[in-house]
Formats: sequence, C-alpha cells, structure tokens
Amino acid sequence: MKKEFHGNFTQQEPLSEEAIEAAIKVMRHGRLHRYNVAENEASEVALLEQDFAKKFDVKFCLACASGGYAMTTALRALGINSGDKILTNGFTLAPVPGSIAAAGGEVVFVEVNEELLIDFEDLEKKIKSSKSKVLLLSHMRGHICNMDSLMSLCNSYKVRVIEDCAHTMGAKWDKKWSGKYGIIGCYSTQTYKHLNSGEGGILITDDEKIMARAIMLSGSYMLFDRHISGPDPEFFEDIKLNTPNCSGRMDNLRAAILRPQLANLEQKCNGWNKRYDHIQKELKGTKGLRLIQRHPKEHFVASSFQFLLPGLTSEAIQEFLISCAEKGVELKWFGAKEPTGFTSRYSSWQYAPKQKLVNTETILDGLIDMRLPLTFSITDCKIIAKIIKSEVRKLT
Ligand SMILES: *Cc1c(COP(=O)(O)O)cnc(C)c1O
Repeated sequence: MKKEFHGNFTQQEPLSEEAIEAAIKVMRHGRLHRYNVAENEASEVALLEQDFAKKFDVKFCLACASGGYAMTTALRALGINSGDKILTNGFTLAPVPGSIAAAGGEVVFVEVNEELLIDFEDLEKKIKSSKSKVLLLSHMRGHICNMDSLMSLCNSYKVRVIEDCAHTMGAKWDKKWSGKYGIIGCYSTQTYKHLNSGEGGILITDDEKIMARAIMLSGSYMLFDRHISGPDPEFFEDIKLNTPNCSGRMDNLRAAILRPQLANLEQKCNGWNKRYDHIQKELKGTKGLRLIQRHPKEHFVASSFQFLLPGLTSEAIQEFLISCAEKGVELKWFGAKEPTGFTSRYSSWQYAPKQKLVNTETILDGLIDMRLPLTFSITDCKIIAKIIKSEVRKLT
C-alpha cells in the first residue's frame, strides 16, 4: 500500500531564536544552577516561576525536574503518609500512578466515562469505600470534567484535589484556568506537552504552607529566600529542619528556553485547536467512529486527538491501525494487551493493588489516540482525517 501521508507525528516545532539566544546567554555565563546567581540577579528559574504565576494569576509557583516530580512533591507537600490511599482516574498516563507510588501512597483508580472524564458516581463510591482524602485528578489528553461539580463533590467529603495539568496548560473550565480549581496544579514541560524543555515540571498553589514545603522538598537547601514566587521566610521557620530535601530542581538552561515559549502559549494553543477543529469536522458523521463530546464550558487545548471505535474486536482494530500506519497515519491504541511506547493502561501498573474497572476497560478497548504536532499544516490534518475516515469505512 502506498503511503499517503508523510508527516512525522513526534516532531515538535524547533525552538524560537529568542529561546536559543536565552539558552546561549546562560551557557555563556555558566550559572546553570538555579541558586547560582550574580549579585542582584534573579535566576532564569525564579523568573520563569514569576512569569508563570503572573500568567495564571496564582500566588506561588515552583519549577522542578519533571511533571511526575511535581505531582510527587504535591502529594508529599500535602503530608501523604506511607500507605495512604490516593484516588486517580483509571484513564491516565504512567507518571500519575508512578508519582503516587513515589510518595508512598496506594493508588485507587476511578472509572472514566465515554467522554474520557472521571465518573462522578464511581468517584463518590470510591471516596466512601477507600476513605481517601486526596484526588490526583488527571485531565488526561486535555479532557476536563465539570470542575464545579467535581469540586463540590470533593469538598463535601473534604477530599483535597491535585490537578494533573500535563495536557491542560492554557486550558480553562468555564472562566478559570485548569490547575486553579484544586489546591495544587501540576504541569509538565516534557517535549510532547504544551511547553518543551525536554524534561521539566511546574507546581502552582495559593497556599503558603504547601508552597513552603514544596520548595523545601524540591531541594532548596536554606536558599528559599531566592524564590521570588514563594511565601515569606516566616513560613519556612517551622518546617525547614524537618522537611526532607528530595532534589528535583529545574535548572536555568531549561527555564531560559521555557520563558519565551510561555509568552507565546496562546498562539500555540490556538494552533492546536485549529488543527483539531479541521479533523473533528472531517470525521463527524463517520459511521462506526465515535467522537468525544465536549462541554461548552470546556475551553480545552487539543494537542492530541482521541476517538472511539466501539464494539470492534481487537483483531479488527489492529488491522485498522496497520492499514492507517501503512498510509502514514500513526495512531496509538489504549486497548492493546501489552503496553507499548507511551501507551499503557491501569491494568499494566501492577505495583498498584489489583482493581477492575469494567466501564473504563470497555472504553479503553476502543480508544484511539493521535498526536497533533504543530509541525502539521491544516492540509496535513485534512489528509490525515480523510485516511482515517476511509479506513473506518472499510471496517463497517
Ligand atoms: C506527561 C504526563 C505527565 C508528566 O510526565 P513527566 O514525563 O513526568 O513530565 C503527567 N500526566 C500525564 C497525563 C502526562 O501525559
């Protein structure tokens, strides 16, 4: 079969000249460590934190080594004890249950529905049965549940919410940024997320005590006063000697390339959504293919595209994936028995207690996932959608 599409699904945009210049400046002076500053100098990391806090109108921000590290730090900053049960979505990515394990918690998975959102009924059931006091809510692939309902449910049980915003940086539910509903918001700047520094993570909160602990945990030594976007020194007095240093800082080189990207975030988000809209329009009405419905209040950032092929055998889906791949369209499938590449599912995380999520299982069996890099043109997106459509038609 002839390849009809030649784009590369894992090729992100190159860094801007501004970002490259900023990185070179850091390399020229050599002060790569965030606390290595010249007199009266604020480090690039401290400035990134300040920029981020300003952009998302939050009191405090901490940049760190990865999104997974930010989530582990968030859990530890909430005072998670070994063996504490932590709720999270049954549909998420490996770093999420991994961060719970790293903090010593025990994962309790919650069902998701056909819109790939956490199932409120199952959430309430699991809150009651597990008595968990923390939900690590994963906005997996950028799908945002009704945050007003979620917060009122969690508040009524005194369950604290940490938001995993790896795919929702720049997104909103209603009028409020994703990451600002929970007590802590965590982001990733790993290459395939909305900002690219190779690896990196960001944690935000309005809570002084939580941020003071997060800063100590991240490895601030006694240099916490070098954080522009942290709480006053008095908040460190009681905790500075009994909070472990679990080094996971961000460095100035990565922060330097992130700052110009952050300034340009809206433009990138619009670019993703434009591509998503074209694919969505093209695939609408395709028999056998179910698009993910989105709430009018969900102002998402579509850096990837998902659809469902319900009711097909795994053989049929595998064939579909192969024929799309032969035409150049690289799709991922959450229904594979063996986890591959970036794609794994809750049953593959066997360090967690064995759990059965009947509905999530059925949904994942038919769930197809595709990256939407900004290196694709609108024409590319139309070609991709046409290929998918014609291959789905062959199935029915
Ligand atoms: C990428 C990702 C993270 C964080 O990943 P890191 O690689 O640790 O930065 C967290 N949650 C989801 C859903 C992700 O996709």
